[in-house]
Amino acid sequence: MSVKIKTPNLDSIFEKWKETAARKDRKKMEKQFGTKGSMFTLDAISAAEYVKDTMKEAAIYFAIKKSLGPAAEGKDEKTVIASKVARGEYYSFKGSGQLVKDNWKGDELVPTYETIQSTTCKKCNGKGFTEDKCKTCNGSGKIQEDVLVYVGEEQKKEKKTFTYPCGACYGTGNRTEHCKECEGHKNLYKYQVLPVPFKTVVTGVPVLHSSAQTKYEKEMGDDLHKMLEEVEGIKFSDFKTLDSKAEASLGYWNKNIKKTISSAGSDYKTYEKDKDSQITTQIYLFPMIQMFCETKKGGKFEIYSIGSDTKFMIYSNF
Ligand SMILES: [Zn+2]
Ligand SMILES: [Zn+2]
Repeated sequence: MSVKIKTPNLDSIFEKWKETAARKDRKKMEKQFGTKGSMFTLDAISAAEYVKDTMKEAAIYFAIKKSLGPAAEGKDEKTVIASKVARGEYYSFKGSGQLVKDNWKGDELVPTYETIQSTTCKKCNGKGFTEDKCKTCNGSGKIQEDVLVYVGEEQKKEKKTFTYPCGACYGTGNRTEHCKECEGHKNLYKYQVLPVPFKTVVTGVPVLHSSAQTKYEKEMGDDLHKMLEEVEGIKFSDFKTLDSKAEASLGYWNKNIKKTISSAGSDYKTYEKDKDSQITTQIYLFPMIQMFCETKKGGKFEIYSIGSDTKFMIYSNF
């Protein structure tokens, strides 16, 4: 069985609007609805005369709690040579506790100072250089060359061997070269790129979907979030029930309402799946009335009501 909700009648919406508008700006009311030469009274302004068209719509409301941050996840490790460490920039959160995400300017994943660590260069085993056979002496440490010698009276040409230590390797036969991996610094350095430690903030967020095209959707959502008790709607604990009972509950129906319920439903599902969100209220279905009005002077404006005949709120761009 469905509970049918009574929509407020047009006159009472109009009356409520009239009082609010007159309280806000009586001069404007007089200018837009007054008659020259006669006393201005609010009583003369009637819905029958100034409401040109009316649409019966609906709104769906629920509230969620959202945990904001720590949003950044994952980590990355970088390995670099010593000189590159010195040219880098790092962040430190040691002793600063958890940060407020709204105050943070910059990336959510940052190189963290405390994680800088040396690691022995594997290429040179931490020596900083590599040893290779000397290319000049082919590893022997010696250079052997022929010298021409003229022997005796006949000056007979003879080649003798002349051996001397290799100057390229100081006679050792080995040559050391800068290690190309660590550029001679013996170590490589690694550091971690970690998420900034944000504080988890839980905030309440109203979610409103309405079938009427209105710029007041955000304002209505915020108002409902603050004073849900002031507006009467029908509560549902799941969308399936809402979907099957909405038409009977409202007592009217249109394509936009159907569409709105379906998009609110998929929104709801998304929040249900989101591990950072928690749905904190039941799902409310509110009747919404949209009134297209025209003042005596021809000024066009709209009035919206949300809620039942006993408890409703109004919005207007008058
Ligand atoms: Zn040599
Ligand atoms: Zn090395």
